Amino acid sequence: MIEIFRKMFEANPEKSTIVLNGKCSDCGHETIIEVTPTSGGFGLQGGSLFKCSPDKYIAKCLACYQSNPKIDEIKRPNSIKRKSGQE
Ligand SMILES: [Zn+2]
Repeated sequence: MIEIFRKMFEANPEKSTIVLNGKCSDCGHETIIEVTPTSGGFGLQGGSLFKCSPDKYIAKCLACYQSNPKIDEIKRPNSIKRKSGQE
């Protein structure tokens, strides 16, 4: 994720803030995320971003991020638990 931000700022060196428009992966609402470089990396405002493949990321609005700060992209059928009497 940091790599993506770094590239964005390299491509726009005159900008101190990069604004990203995306759709929230949870509620589908338009999400505007502001990225600003900080001493320790990058700061996000308005939502959060998650890397989901080498150059793809998904956005989450602040409300959805606060209620579920994880990506739901990988939904594993972990509700299926193996029944075994070998325990
Ligand atoms: Zn949302």
